[in-house]
Amino acid sequence: MSSHNTVTHKSTKIKTIRDVVEWNLCMGCGACVAFCEKENGVDLVDIPTAGLRPRSGADCGSCSRCLAVCPGVSVDAAETNDDEPESIVENLQVGNYHGVYEGYAADREIRFIGSSGGILSALSVYALEKGGMDYVVHTGMDKAQPWKNRTVISRNKPQLLDNAGSRYCTSSPCELFDVIEKSAGRCVFIGKPCDVAALAKARRLRPQLDANVGLALSFFCAGTPCSDAVRELVGGLGVEADEISSLRFRGQGWPGRFEVQSTKGGEPKTISYLRTWTTLAKRRPFRCHICPDGMGLLSDITSGDAWNRYTGEAESDGISHVVVRTGRGRRLLESAVQAGYVELTPSTADDIIKAQGIHLRRTVVFGRLIGMRLCGVPTPRYSNFGLFSSWLRTNPLVMTSSIFGTLKRMVVRKLWRRSPYFYR
Ligand SMILES: Cc1cc2nc3c(=O)[nH]c(=O)nc-3n(C[C@H](O)[C@H](O)[C@H](O)COP(=O)(O)OP(=O)(O)OC[C@H]3O[C@@H](n4cnc5c(N)ncnc54)[C@H](O)[C@@H]3O)c2cc1C
Repeated sequence: MSSHNTVTHKSTKIKTIRDVVEWNLCMGCGACVAFCEKENGVDLVDIPTAGLRPRSGADCGSCSRCLAVCPGVSVDAAETNDDEPESIVENLQVGNYHGVYEGYAADREIRFIGSSGGILSALSVYALEKGGMDYVVHTGMDKAQPWKNRTVISRNKPQLLDNAGSRYCTSSPCELFDVIEKSAGRCVFIGKPCDVAALAKARRLRPQLDANVGLALSFFCAGTPCSDAVRELVGGLGVEADEISSLRFRGQGWPGRFEVQSTKGGEPKTISYLRTWTTLAKRRPFRCHICPDGMGLLSDITSGDAWNRYTGEAESDGISHVVVRTGRGRRLLESAVQAGYVELTPSTADDIIKAQGIHLRRTVVFGRLIGMRLCGVPTPRYSNFGLFSSWLRTNPLVMTSSIFGTLKRMVVRKLWRRSPYFYR
């Protein structure tokens, strides 16, 4: 294992995974846990007010190998796994792509259960049934604590549908990198943009992991709320956490409602998608506010809500935007269309911009990093995101507020110093 490259962060303040957590740069993907080779190295703990975070054990501290796969310290948009880079279309706002579409799962059940168009689930079903993949690593409800997530492995359509739909809470699918690496088959990996960024790094270091991931799918992501936020949302509906039997964030129609079922029976309690997201979004960790990639630039295919097509009618048929990032993604998508698993029509990067707000975050990240540096706080290294150009293209008001707003946040939320969490 000594042949694995290690990467240390340039900042003298980031030497271990504990530093990443304490400086609020972690988003809980779990890659460090899978990459740790020590007996009592790192495990994952849910900090209810922050998210899933690595906890260093007695053996941690002597090596920084896990930092090599940590998207909290660095992300490079050029680290893509594209096997057809010559046909890429460059785009500063939505990221480079091979094609942009809107569409949905051809299977009505998948479209209904899925988050927007059920595209990610439909592509996964295709990959298992016809695409030569053996299993899918993704995220579902933690049955013991339904307001939380757990990383799951699905091997067929019923299992995939059991775990379809967005779960707006901290998740850590990268914790299974070592399982994927050691497995005999090939898999589809579904994760947040930061998860697929960790995967891109990990593949370069572990050839067998690279060989075993046949497809990396992602979704547009504005950030992952902490588990306390979900618990409080449920509490507001008069349901105690220990009496939840199931919890769905959305799906079963577009956009779908947040729905909690109590073990005491009765009608499920529900809230609209809009109220759910606006409440939960207030509890996203700091790292999500300085994320340069809300659109899965390092995936093969990314899906998001085609909000520009949403009529405002409660619970219509879902429509997703689909962005193809690699040649491998294009080939799989074309085969899935031909085999009748998904239905697509061409769309444009402008349509995505009309549908989304997340591309705007990239325009302020550069200013936010300046704000952090002015406070002496270590910043992640971001490469090839065009952050400076994006920032320059905004207006002077946005540029200055991105710096001074961050300075204010650093002071008010005491982010200028380490957050000790559980390392006290
Ligand atoms: C935290 C979060 C923030 C999001 N922000 C936006 C946004 O700003 N704009 C937007 O358009 N869309 C956003 N989405 C994505 C959107 O809700 C849909 O997931 C996307 O449209 C894909 O829908 P689908 O019907 O193709 O996916 P589905 O077929 O429903 O499949 C979704 C897949 O994602 C996996 N998954 C669900 N939750 C998580 C999670 N927390 N971590 C890792 N994997 C997960 C599931 O296991 C499933 O395989 C967000 C999703 C999440 C989880």
